[in-house]
Formats: sequence, C-alpha cells, structure tokens
Amino acid sequence: MKDTSHISSITALRDWIAGHREQMLADLGDYVRRETPSTDKALLDAGLAWVEASLLAPLGAAERVARVEGGEHGDARVFDYPGRSGAAPVLALCHYDTVWPAGTLAELPFAVDGDRVTGPGVFDMKAGLVQLVWALRALDAAELPRPPVRLVLNGDEELGSPASRPVIESAARGARAALVFEASQAGAVKTARKGVGIFRVEARGVQAHAGLDPEGGVSAVDELARVVLALHALADLAAGTSVNVGIIGGGTARNVIAGHAHAEVDVRVSSAAEAARVDAALAALRPADPRAAITVTGGWNRPVMERGEGTAALFATAAEVAAGMGVTLEECSVGGASDGNFVAALGVPVLDGLGAVGDGAHARHEHISIAGMLERAALTAGLLTALAEVDTADTADTPSM
Ligand SMILES: [Zn+2]
Repeated sequence: MKDTSHISSITALRDWIAGHREQMLADLGDYVRRETPSTDKALLDAGLAWVEASLLAPLGAAERVARVEGGEHGDARVFDYPGRSGAAPVLALCHYDTVWPAGTLAELPFAVDGDRVTGPGVFDMKAGLVQLVWALRALDAAELPRPPVRLVLNGDEELGSPASRPVIESAARGARAALVFEASQAGAVKTARKGVGIFRVEARGVQAHAGLDPEGGVSAVDELARVVLALHALADLAAGTSVNVGIIGGGTARNVIAGHAHAEVDVRVSSAAEAARVDAALAALRPADPRAAITVTGGWNRPVMERGEGTAALFATAAEVAAGMGVTLEECSVGGASDGNFVAALGVPVLDGLGAVGDGAHARHEHISIAGMLERAALTAGLLTALAEVDTADTADTPSM
C-alpha cells in the first residue's frame, strides 16, 4: 500500500479515542452489567435491546437492519452502516452472549482497578464491540473515509452459533474482509484457527451372559476399545491434527457382555486436507467382529480458518497501521474456533482477535486492559480507514469447503 495518508491520521484518531476514555469505560460498564448468558433468552433479548438502543445509537441510523429470530437462542442482527468511500463492505462480527450464568455479576461485579477491568464477558467479548463502536465514532468525528460496515451481532456463539451461522454466512457475501472482535491472544491477532470436529461413535455388540454364553456374545466394549486406539492414532500433531476421545461409556453389568458402548470425540485440524483425511478414516471404521456394528455421528462444528493470501494481506495492512502508532502487531494461530472460521471457509479474508487485550476468557480471572482497549479502538479506526481505499488488487482466499 503506497498511500500513507491513513498512517498520518492514526495519531489524531488515537488522541480523540484517548480523550473519550471515561465514556468508553462507562459504555463497557453498562454493557457488562447487562448479563447475557447464551442460554437465557430473556436476558439475551434485554441485552441486545440495550446494545441497539443505546450503544449503537451514536452511529446513526443503519441503511438496513435485518432482525433474525433465534428461536430458543439469542436473536441475530445485521446492521448495514453506509461508508464514506466506494469500497466494498467490511464485515464486523461481534457476539453478545457470554458463557457466564445469570447471577455471576453478584460475585464477580464489573470493577476497575488501575488499568485492569473485570466482569463477566468483559474480555470475551464485550470490550470488542465497545472498541468497534468507538472506532466508528472516531472516524465519524474526524470525517475520515471508511468502507461500508456490515455489523453482525449474534447471541449463540458460545454454543457454536447454531442459529446464527447462516446469518453470518449470508452477511459475508460480497464483503472484502471480515474483522472479528473476539479477544486477542496476548495482544496478537488470530490469522489462523483450527477447525473443530465433534463426533460420537456408537458400538453395537450382542449382549450375552459372560459366564454361561461367552461365545454367543459380541462385546461392544471390545469394539469401542479398538476404535479408541484407532482414533488416537489419527492424531498428527506436526500437521496440526489432535484427536481426543474425552468420554467413553457402555455395558450394563460386570457379568454381561456389553451390547452397547459409546465415545465422544473432539478433533482439531489445521487444514481442509487434514479434515478430509479424518473424515475418510471415520467413514472407514469397521468392527473387528462382523456381528458388531460401528456408527459415527456428528461432524465439523466449525471449518478450518486457514491463513490464505487475502488474510496475510489484511494482516499486513493492520500491522502497518499499528506500526504508525508505534505498536508491533503480532499474529498467531490458535486451536479454538470462532465465527471467523465460517467466513474464512467462504474465501473472505479474516482478521480475528481484533478485540480486547487481556486474559482469562471463560475463566474467573477474566479481565481487560484499558490501555489496550484504547489502543485497539484506534487500531480498528486506522484499519477501517485503510480499507476505505478502493483497491483493485484485493485478494480473496480460496474457499475451503
Ligand atoms: Zn467469544
């Protein structure tokens, strides 16, 4: 990128954002104090209503708002905010649900201690949305160019996005890039995420009396034990593939040849090729005794997010903006999946982990850094302004599924 005007504007953006520190913290406090557990529809509805009516209000009216019912899960919203450039839209993904059950606030209240802010969901990922909103407000105040922004809010991410996945995939169409405001990894953005497979293996044998009729029975436990070894042998850590049979069960009594046994399996892969290899191996599982049967159910909860050329170029742009702020932006690859995986699989470049700087997602020590919040909001603003340039050399990534 030769044009460096977005670099010179970064200082002004950063100063404006730093000048609104108290308001950002107030927004974050209001948001965290509205508990939004993934499994509590009433609280999710109330939290989303507050985000829409209060947090997003200063951004002005969206050109289009899609409201998608989530059924028993949180509803999704898609807001199209017009840009001040001819560039294609940038997709912004923020989930508003948290893993924390209702009532957590009473024991783990929103609190500020120096640079450290604690509270349920503050890191994963309420600060991320606050940072994005203030980045957009900074760009509006400075009247700097930015691409159209399509903001998706979903309330079922922590459950694997069962209801919002099609909403996210359809919102990704036509986007030049996707920014995911999930928490960072010690400040690093995530340019690759593993795909996650969740499988269940059922072994069916023939139940019989262990002492009176040992030859008449076929042990499902024996079959499952062989399967467990075969599954663990599929792991290839050098290729980024891990396999864990985390739960097994089966049988009815010590003196009964087991007629049934089952296993719950977690698989993580770094490439679509490895996902295909695992799929083939699962499909090829056969019982050692032909009278037994083995069935596999489940599938890939989230596809692999590979670091394609488009994502590499997007990271390079972000790193350049960060450098303009005197910040070295690192990238990393992680084993956990996010909604960014869905978008990357469609060939849209994804920068994930652009959200909070802190630690302790899903843990009691969940916290963010205020300095990090200000820095990431400025980085986001600078990145959006850089993405407002209409670049004909845009690189798309290859769809993987
Ligand atoms: Zn999250």
